[in-house]
Amino acid sequence: MVVVMAPEATQADVDAIVDVVHAAGGEAFVSRGISRTIVGLVGDLDQFGTLNLRSRSGVLDVVRISVPYKLISRENHPDRSVVRVGGVPIGPDTLTVIAGPCAVETPEQTLIAARMAKAAGASILRGGAFKPRTSPYAFQGLGEAGLKILADVRAETGLPVVTEVIDPANVDLVSSYADMLQIGARSMHNFPLLQAVGAAAKPVLLKRGFNATIEEWLMAAEYIAQRGNLDIVLCERGIRTFETATRNTLDISAVPVAQGLSHLPVIVDPSHSGGRRDLVLPLTRAAIAVGADGVIIDVHPEPKLAMCDGDQALLDSDIRELASVAANLPPLMGRTLTPPPAQPAKPARVPSATVVG
Ligand code: PEP
Ligand code: MN
Repeated sequence: MVVVMAPEATQADVDAIVDVVHAAGGEAFVSRGISRTIVGLVGDLDQFGTLNLRSRSGVLDVVRISVPYKLISRENHPDRSVVRVGGVPIGPDTLTVIAGPCAVETPEQTLIAARMAKAAGASILRGGAFKPRTSPYAFQGLGEAGLKILADVRAETGLPVVTEVIDPANVDLVSSYADMLQIGARSMHNFPLLQAVGAAAKPVLLKRGFNATIEEWLMAAEYIAQRGNLDIVLCERGIRTFETATRNTLDISAVPVAQGLSHLPVIVDPSHSGGRRDLVLPLTRAAIAVGADGVIIDVHPEPKLAMCDGDQALLDSDIRELASVAANLPPLMGRTLTPPPAQPAKPARVPSATVVG
């Protein structure tokens, strides 16, 4: 059961609901979104039936939810949500492009990749500083030094930053640099990590695990929402199937299915799903055509030298075509391409960066 508070509800109204539910032996989880506060109730429904919740001060509605994910379900919140990342919207009216290198390697590489991203129509920069690698011998990312590079490149370009966090102990550290926290496919089932980002004050990009059903993915989002953070964007990034021609199989139908079940925005990662540069643009077109709210794409100034996922990174020569797709396809879907935030007035210099292009 979910109690939807009215926009004018006070903190005292919310506290009174929590108190009365606790007194009845139930649990109450308060989630504050951009436009409303909702209180998810856990416990015996019959118990709550006698509490007259609907007539209490500040209550707009009381909804019985039949699906196991309550706070993120569309049943509870029929309007699709907009999540803002450093002021940049991701939601139903826009198409937001996120792009950047798979991993932050150097200040120069990150700055050039950010400029490529911006030229392609991106309004948010991606880049991993903590990399979850299959092999313990592979490049694990620069850690905090990588986060600093991302913050410098944000100051230079104005692009807000999304970067992955893989350890609950690092959520505060990553939050202090990033505008959005990424939970990678391999971490989707890490429940303590989901709870930790649920308590953080930054929006979350939740990738679907490559072996997760849509319901498991939505339940992972519910873990985050249940801790009070409703600013979640879902990302379909391909699932493992019997097919070996591609790295993973992009489950394109997951986009409208998840959008039908949840009010959260849904974006697509055409880079990690196909794992091949030649598939990135076709899969980007497919994502926009199926109604995705955005895409997240790997770009690299010199993919041959990339320390991670070079095979799927777009080259400088691909940027013009991506820009054309990003500009021309969204209007056919009734969307506008999200513009990047304004360039900072006096761009800070990225230490030791060679400014190219
Ligand atoms: C990534 O986006 O850098 C990444 C590791 O992706 P995924 O978690 O989808 O494999
Ligand atoms: Mn990668």
